[in-house]
Amino acid sequence: MKIRIQFALSVLLFMGLVACQPADETQAPTPAQPEVGGEPGDEATPRVTDLAMAAQFDALAETLIEEMLVLSPEWAIRQGRYENAGVMTVPDAAHRQRVREFVDSALARLERFDPVALPSAQRTDHALLHNRLESMRWYQEEFRGWQWMPSTYNVAGTLSVLLNTEFAPIEERLQLILSRLEHVPAYYQAARTNIERPTLEHTELAMGQNQGAFGVFDDIADELSDINSDVLDRERFGERLDAARDAVSGWIEWLEDMHAELLAANGARPFRIGEDLYERKFELDIQSDFSAAELYERALAEKERLHAEMNEMATELWPDYFPDEPAPEDGLERIARLVDQLSDRHVALEDFVDEIRRQIPELEAFVREHDLLDQDPEKPLVVRETPDYMRGTGAIASVSAPGPFNPGAETFYNVTPLDHFGPELAASYLREYNHWILQILNIHEAIPGHYTQLLHANRSPSLVKSLFGNGAMIEGWAVYAERMMLEEGWGDHEPELWLMHGKWLLRVVFNTILDYAVHVKGMERDEAIRLMREEAFQEESEATQKWRRITLSQVQLTSYFAGYAEIYDLREQFKAELGDDFDLKDFHNQFLSYGSAPVRVIAELMTEE
Ligand code: ZN
Repeated sequence: MKIRIQFALSVLLFMGLVACQPADETQAPTPAQPEVGGEPGDEATPRVTDLAMAAQFDALAETLIEEMLVLSPEWAIRQGRYENAGVMTVPDAAHRQRVREFVDSALARLERFDPVALPSAQRTDHALLHNRLESMRWYQEEFRGWQWMPSTYNVAGTLSVLLNTEFAPIEERLQLILSRLEHVPAYYQAARTNIERPTLEHTELAMGQNQGAFGVFDDIADELSDINSDVLDRERFGERLDAARDAVSGWIEWLEDMHAELLAANGARPFRIGEDLYERKFELDIQSDFSAAELYERALAEKERLHAEMNEMATELWPDYFPDEPAPEDGLERIARLVDQLSDRHVALEDFVDEIRRQIPELEAFVREHDLLDQDPEKPLVVRETPDYMRGTGAIASVSAPGPFNPGAETFYNVTPLDHFGPELAASYLREYNHWILQILNIHEAIPGHYTQLLHANRSPSLVKSLFGNGAMIEGWAVYAERMMLEEGWGDHEPELWLMHGKWLLRVVFNTILDYAVHVKGMERDEAIRLMREEAFQEESEATQKWRRITLSQVQLTSYFAGYAEIYDLREQFKAELGDDFDLKDFHNQFLSYGSAPVRVIAELMTEE
């Protein structure tokens, strides 16, 4: 799927990084609960003082997480903790003061530990926690999206989770919802107080997304009338639902007025965040050794490399597919014609989910037979049709793993049957997820992509890594896995598969190029669309949706390529240093053994060992 605009949750106020970004077409799983305790590993036996310090650090990490769960009940709900689920965060100045005090106190406690003296597991946790706290401060004090992104405010997402997640009987969940509803008017009042010179784009997004809240209120009312319960105060429920509807309507009208004023006075804040904010956001969100500018240059070089590689494939394939026609002179045109032709080969609409289910054991066998990395036959991946309540996002495929507070649950590969999208869109998805791309999608989402990475991450149990895992590492691994599988002979080095992989990877490369070019270098819409159409071979609809996403998010689109480039470089560096002693399986197993830590942190630990 091209775009997933999620509810902008109030949680954004608190965490800054999570849940606010429209997620990409291929969605990283929520990190899973560590299962049984990890192996002690083959490191030298730690000294007693190290063990004591590690235990002290673990205790602090746990305390900080518990404090964060209390500070943001919305974030807690997303993670599967419901003790404070009836409390709604009102995003006012007093709340920001509480966040400020927490961050200061938490950083002071964290800084009592010297990360270098900690064992590797705790050292990576230290880095992640430190980064998270710095992020919270920076998002609130410097980035200040709470002032200029009205789409930050929406009560519906959390209410919808409480309504649809069966963590308790429906009566109990409705009680929590009732309790939250009380604060909806105060919530939107605080939002009005906060907003100052917003962007047009985030104002429009907020107007649209808050309309979705009415549907959630209706679902709550329906649920209420469906159940037999004397415990629930129906009258009060009715009053609070009415007040909540009024508050949301008032907010939307207020935004509409503001939108008209901004347009008339040409007074909106530009959506482009500019170089300074962009570089710092990149540093905090991606946690890479690259700067944003360096990654941009790297992506431009990768684009050239891919075009050359794809042109080679296209030249080789041309006579097979167009025997009676000379190939176009222009390389990009030659590639575009072949990509278009090859997209006709795809499964029948009704076979889409079954075909995905059929491929999973084949991927598992290939990884095993080619000795690529360890797998765990005890924890199979369950392919299922995406549950109804998750379909609103429009994603075609995603992996959902049990959250850290729900151990023991299964890991699902959610696939949305394409007929869900209506005939026209379904036909275009079938061409996009054609015979070749579907294989790459399965590698990315399942084996040895997200699902396999999660299995490994679960062996280094860490609540910190489960909650604050590095997105660039997680997405980068899945993108790396695609190319690695092809290099190792998945698909028998078929030129068609390489060509299609090139197109798929170009999407990731262009996500990075355009996000930077638009936000930092001021690239305009027409030029961005032209590049996506002509140089990345995207459909018009895909390109226009991507443009919209660039105007609404910043930096997140670079995470895929950032992680991929760093992992690929690290492997090549190990290959060069170890020569004949390099073993791909060992490299993969070791790389994945630290949990979802930033690639630069993993690189440091691997180089030391
Ligand atoms: Zn992904």
